[in-house]
Amino acid sequence: MPFSAAELAAGTTLANLATSYLVVTDDRDTARRAQREASERAVRDMLTGLPVRWVFLEQLTRSLAGLRRAPGHVAVLFLDIDGLKYVNDTYGHPAGDRLITTCAARIRGALRPADLLARIGGDEFAVLLDGLERPEDAAGVAQRVLDALHRSDRRHRDALQPSASIGVAATDDPDLPGATLIAHADSAMYRAKRRQRGRYEMFDPSAYAVQRARSAELEQLVEDLRTALPGDQLTVHYQPVLDVGGGDRDLAATEGLHAVEALLRWRHPRRGLLSADAFIDTAERAGLLPRLGEWVMRTACRQMMLWDEALGPRAPRRLFVNLSTVELADPMLIGRIGGALSEAGLDPRRLTLEITEGGLLPEAEAAADAMDSLRELGCELAIDDFGAGYSSLSRLTEIPATTIKIDQTFAQRVREDPSAAAVISAVLAIGTNLDRRVIAEGVEDEESLSALLRLGVTHVQGYHLARPMTPAALTAALAASSG
Ligand code: C2E
Ligand code: MG
Ligand code: MG
Repeated sequence: MPFSAAELAAGTTLANLATSYLVVTDDRDTARRAQREASERAVRDMLTGLPVRWVFLEQLTRSLAGLRRAPGHVAVLFLDIDGLKYVNDTYGHPAGDRLITTCAARIRGALRPADLLARIGGDEFAVLLDGLERPEDAAGVAQRVLDALHRSDRRHRDALQPSASIGVAATDDPDLPGATLIAHADSAMYRAKRRQRGRYEMFDPSAYAVQRARSAELEQLVEDLRTALPGDQLTVHYQPVLDVGGGDRDLAATEGLHAVEALLRWRHPRRGLLSADAFIDTAERAGLLPRLGEWVMRTACRQMMLWDEALGPRAPRRLFVNLSTVELADPMLIGRIGGALSEAGLDPRRLTLEITEGGLLPEAEAAADAMDSLRELGCELAIDDFGAGYSSLSRLTEIPATTIKIDQTFAQRVREDPSAAAVISAVLAIGTNLDRRVIAEGVEDEESLSALLRLGVTHVQGYHLARPMTPAALTAALAASSG
């Protein structure tokens, strides 16, 4: 993230403020020591002893100005430690701190004494390289830093293996603002992280332009979504989950209809019908998800009762609704779900809440409490997109879920990738032993379906069997079976 002049000023003011407060104490020595420490703290990061953001920017600004006298290149490496949040969450903050200090030492070791290394954020470091002949020289340094970071530590075999993504930006333009050069390196880092962790990328102006346009577009999306909330642009589509274990794979054979999954849709005034994929993350970041989620819950519960009335025994028996990790941590969630159920008059046992792996991390305590309360309410739980994240197979055994939905990527790879088939088989084995229902998502063609059936899969969901559809379309499809 770029620095502002205000941030610079704030750093200096902080140091001065601390100082002027402390010099009024009687003990001059203590005051002086405290004064030194306070100003130290404003320029140095306490954990690593490295300079902080604004010091880095000041030095960078000086180096850029120096290009006027001595032509050459100045480069910034923007470095982000991979998975720090995961380490903090899983092993605790002391482990996270150790990871940071280890990285700091290894990066420092890969640099020349004259290169400036700073810690500029929780998991972010920046390196300033001055007096380069060619911009490519910076790439060599980035690779050296990565090699140093990834070096395995023979003395501590069980120690965490650091890995980082690096963005590199270089310039010979003395008029380029330092903050812009940092933003360029940051954007290159972002691309490195998205491609594959543990690598570096050079700044690419065209990719940068695309990225900026994209973030402007997302901002617009949030604005649109705010106004869409109370209006009629939001709808819920329903995708059947089929039980093909008995040989039926026809929607019209309602014994085969295991459940319907509610999926949020947005009829955007300019962009047409948007799938949840196109906006759910943005909605979550903008804090809009609790309200959206509540609306989906109430709409879907009501829809179940409408189907009961219209279709009698052919109505879907079970409703699956997705819950994000943020919603799971919301103390109001249980009240809202209970409210939606009783308002519609829907039996809680007909509702299954789908939770992704993020909600299953051992330290997600609020989520664990919510899962308990949901079960007390009478609802069932499903683990969604299993295999897409970090959780292990053994974690499956500890979660009070009755259903496991295997991430779509496995069904999509099952035909050509033996490891995908192996994971599906392993999950099925756990399902059989622990009495969990296993659903394969993302079944897109007949060949994948056959491969899944051969492995012993009984429950499936995917475009090949039925797409998400409007309530009216699903009513028609289910009613057709009565004839
Ligand atoms: P999900 O829960 O894993 O839902 C399945 C997604 O895969 C849906 O995308 C569905 O349309 C799509 N899909 C179904 N069959 C196939 C197939 O055969 N091939 C492929 N390629 N895709 C298939 P959608 O509706 O865009 O939803 C994306 C994600 O957004 C959902 O993934 C879910 O995590 C989230 N989501 C959707 N609605 C809600 C909601 O109301 N609340 C919350 N919190 N999340 C939601
Ligand atoms: Mg789902
Ligand atoms: Mg899924």
